[in-house]
Amino acid sequence: MPEAPLSRIVIVGGGSAGWMTAAALARLVAAGLAITLVESDEIGTIGVGEATIPPLVDFNAALGIDENAFVAATQGTFKLGIEFRDWGHPGNRYVHPFGNYGRQTQGINFHQIWLRQRLLGVAETDPGPFDLYAISIAAAARGRFTKPAGDPEGVLQGLAYAYHFDAGLYAEFLRMRAEAQGVRRVEGKVVRVEQSSDTGFLSAVVLEGGRRIEGDLFIDCSGFRALLIGETLGVPYRSWRHWLPCDRAVAVPSAAVAPPVPYTRSTADKAGWRWRIPLQHRVGNGHVYSSAHLEDEAAARALLDRLDGAPLAEPRTLRFTAGRREKLWEKNCIAIGLSAGFIEPLESTSIHLIQSGIVRLMASFPDRNFAAVEIAEYNRWLIDEYENVRDFIVLHYHASTRSDSDFWNDCRAMDIPDSLAARLDLWRGKGRVFRGFNALFTEESWTAVLLGQGVMPADSDPLVAMLPVDETTRFLTHMRNIIAQTAEAMPRHEEYIARHCAAA
Ligand code: FAD
Repeated sequence: MPEAPLSRIVIVGGGSAGWMTAAALARLVAAGLAITLVESDEIGTIGVGEATIPPLVDFNAALGIDENAFVAATQGTFKLGIEFRDWGHPGNRYVHPFGNYGRQTQGINFHQIWLRQRLLGVAETDPGPFDLYAISIAAAARGRFTKPAGDPEGVLQGLAYAYHFDAGLYAEFLRMRAEAQGVRRVEGKVVRVEQSSDTGFLSAVVLEGGRRIEGDLFIDCSGFRALLIGETLGVPYRSWRHWLPCDRAVAVPSAAVAPPVPYTRSTADKAGWRWRIPLQHRVGNGHVYSSAHLEDEAAARALLDRLDGAPLAEPRTLRFTAGRREKLWEKNCIAIGLSAGFIEPLESTSIHLIQSGIVRLMASFPDRNFAAVEIAEYNRWLIDEYENVRDFIVLHYHASTRSDSDFWNDCRAMDIPDSLAARLDLWRGKGRVFRGFNALFTEESWTAVLLGQGVMPADSDPLVAMLPVDETTRFLTHMRNIIAQTAEAMPRHEEYIARHCAAA
């Protein structure tokens, strides 16, 4: 087939998904592509989504965004990981850090060295909590932050970071950039979608008032409505409710009463969990819960009762079903964002899955032939990534021994995906863990949650047993000390922000 380039892209939706997509594609306008984004002020956006993970740093950098300007414009703060409270059992606490623990030695994963010392059970060689060995945790615990640049050989290379920000301000920030590069924004409500009668491909969206916008490729960023991929093309939604029973969230911003900490907090509760996300000008709070186990009003009360500053708005309840579309790309339509799927924000992965959709779209950019093999590969790639994230989230519930409510008793009795069961079997033997193909979460992330929630393997890697114990004890003591010293020497998080990226 001869080359048949696209000439018109239509993005439906102007939430984080729509504007991230528009900003990433905007440079194609100069090459002759017309890009139109339609959004409805009346419908609005979901208005939550404030915590992110480190790959967003690369996404923004690839778009040429100045980091300090972006953090200032979005009331942003820095995030070094997530503190989990009461997850393994009431009173349990650990941090899932960004970046590494310790450092590999002689090709052996660091956690294996820690594990062997812990399993030895000799007081003099006790390595202490695993949390002491991550620079991101050491910095977070002290309320400190700096970037890894300038320490090429040192401990700081183990540090990685992401952001907390106001999602509405991020969308505005991206919108300004996209429009400046020629993306056309149309305000209005799509009331009808036209399809070709022979292929079923989408041909135009029609707005209230009759305005038609034609396109060759349509990106569905219409949120939970899934206007194009679901309502129009009928691609079914595959629910994961049987593994992830939380189906509601109530969110409320509150006044900041202390400087922002450089981490998100997740606290397990009787029927779900609560988030706390510190921004420069306020704190974002939410309670994710299962409506089968808790009434909306009680969920809102549980959230309001535990705020550490005054609420700044009325609590807002949101409904969702964990799951994904059976296909994320169908015909000439690609679903990105909530229209593609949703996994609760326990590990702040939704904005990342938007980013993955965009990156993969750029790598599989279609022409008018819409090659089936390329579409199939896009779907396989993204579905793998969604399922890997799903397994990681299910782990948090499954690896809990809580028995203080029907919700947690039901979670403990729940089936888990076969892929997760296989991982757990592997872990329980010798603490083996491998990053899956195309997987977001690294060995270190899995290790953080497994050890954090008290899932101890029976044994460690036999290769570690070949290292002399006094040598590994010295190594662990050195790592612990140097990590603590490095963290102590960092600036305080609020000082870093004030110096580099304070909001106006
Ligand atoms: P939306 O924000 O809903 O945007 C949909 C857009 O489509 C809007 O502009 C709307 O006007 C438009 N639209 C819809 N129908 C029409 C129509 N007929 N005509 C014209 N326009 C239309 N993600 C994270 O990464 N971190 C988090 O901490 C996090 N927390 C979350 C907490 C909760 C409770 C929930 C529910 C989600 C959270 N997310 C989080 C997910 C995150 O909010 C979303 O992934 C992200 O905001 C993308 O949303 P979206 O753009 O797909 O949809």
